[in-house]
Amino acid sequence: MEKKEILQAILNSEELPTLPNVASKLITLTAREDTTLTDIAALVSQDIALSAKILKVSNSAFYSFPQQIGSIKQAVSLLGTNAVRSLVLSFSFLTMKKGKQKSSFNFEKFWERSLASAVASKLILDKVNEADTEEIFVCGLLQNLGELIFARIFSDKYDKVIEKIESGHADNISVENELLGIDHANIGYEVAKHWGFPDTLLLPLLYHHAPEVYTGDDPKIIQTINAVYLSDLLTNILYSDEPEKYHKLFRTESKQLLKLTSTDIESILSELHVQLDLAGEYFELKMKNSKSVQEILQEANIRLSLMNLDYDQMNKQLVQAKISLEKLTTELEEKNRVLDNLANIDGLTGVYNHRYFQNTLDQEISRATRNDSVLSLVLIDIDNFKNFNDTHGHQTGDYVLTQFATVIKENLRNYDTLSRYGGEEFAIILPDTNEEAAILASEKLRLIIEEATFEDNEEKYSVTASFGLATCMPGIEDDFSKSKLISNADQALYAAKDKGRNAVVSYSPKKKWFSF
Ligand code: GH3
Ligand code: MG
Ligand code: MG
Repeated sequence: MEKKEILQAILNSEELPTLPNVASKLITLTAREDTTLTDIAALVSQDIALSAKILKVSNSAFYSFPQQIGSIKQAVSLLGTNAVRSLVLSFSFLTMKKGKQKSSFNFEKFWERSLASAVASKLILDKVNEADTEEIFVCGLLQNLGELIFARIFSDKYDKVIEKIESGHADNISVENELLGIDHANIGYEVAKHWGFPDTLLLPLLYHHAPEVYTGDDPKIIQTINAVYLSDLLTNILYSDEPEKYHKLFRTESKQLLKLTSTDIESILSELHVQLDLAGEYFELKMKNSKSVQEILQEANIRLSLMNLDYDQMNKQLVQAKISLEKLTTELEEKNRVLDNLANIDGLTGVYNHRYFQNTLDQEISRATRNDSVLSLVLIDIDNFKNFNDTHGHQTGDYVLTQFATVIKENLRNYDTLSRYGGEEFAIILPDTNEEAAILASEKLRLIIEEATFEDNEEKYSVTASFGLATCMPGIEDDFSKSKLISNADQALYAAKDKGRNAVVSYSPKKKWFSF
């Protein structure tokens, strides 16, 4: 069918809603230039029920007039002719019947949404300076008149449109054009034109989905078209399943089209549901949606973040979090180990320092006490090292000291602990080592050092060292102490020096020195 034919079919249909008598006459009357306020008031007053409704709304918070409006004539003069016409048309629209055909079109939701759009349009245009807001309410309300007509006249075909829109998120205008050959903006416009609506009401109907297409220059019409277009975005925050998308869109579009400020926008968003509840009351329409924009957006946000995580992803995220936590823990432990080590390591030679020596000796004594086991301590002192420094310089001395420590360390068992006791003196703790074994070990080291050559800058150096050792069984000896053990080893070391150096001496309580 051609567009014209479709249109003709609609206009000739028995299902085409008709305007109530008063509304229809009011349109004709307001179109004439010689009409007075008295004429209009007289017409509206003929319908007592309608008049009562108009007075109720006129006195509501929606118009917030400082004085009580007692008659239709007063309403017409205070609100304006167009505002009263807008109210008459609004009531007429809201009382239009569902139609006879079966349809999956949700009429209740349609009227609720329409009222929301009307309230939204007015809230929006109220923010624009010097805008004419007399007729914005009915423009917002009637913007989707075409949908109502489709549902009544082409109920079967329109069911398919609804199905397609709901399944694919395609926009309704293009689905309507595709399946019906015409869209609701055009139908609404043509039907309202048929009813005799003036341009100020017609053009917003036609352009409410595409304000940019309107090429006229009437600022009032441009503002109204924009406000109606924006009201649809705002209503979609409340009624669509993509509130965030429309929220974003509303913010950017309202700034661009009507130069609204962020403050204006916040005020509109926070007032919308309050004003909608009020409007529902005085237009006697049950409103299902009682949530504020803020609530809806918060809920959508939570839904979105949950939706984004399916079970697998949630699992992956948890595993990932556990892995990084473990990695972090390992790194931390490693760093702590390094730090601990640094605190225990001698800066020059890289073997343990005096502090570590003392701690380890404490631990090994405790262990030997618990196990009734034997423990040996060896103190090593490089021979004539003062001389060495004097001859070869302190730097070479440092180098040899380090090499000396390295060689000793390389020739120890894993569980023996070498520390720099101080200066050119070292200590070895030998757990589970009796005197004989300690002497053997010391003698071995003494020999290795004696034979070792340390090369530095192509010069070869060698040193000798003296070894003093003491062995103990801390769990058995009555008068055992750590300091006595150290001092015994020290005495043996003195004895080794006494003997002419490069010697191993084991401490003997009877002061009989055994040298090897
Ligand atoms: P002895 O055989 O009696 O032990 O003679 P010695 O010269 O080794 O003993 P003494 O205690 O008189 O001197 C120790 C020397 O060791 C003095 C000092 O110059 C040297 N020394 C101690 N610590 C360091 C060091 O860190 N670097 C260098 N280069 N020399 C050190
Ligand atoms: Mg010394
Ligand atoms: Mg020395």
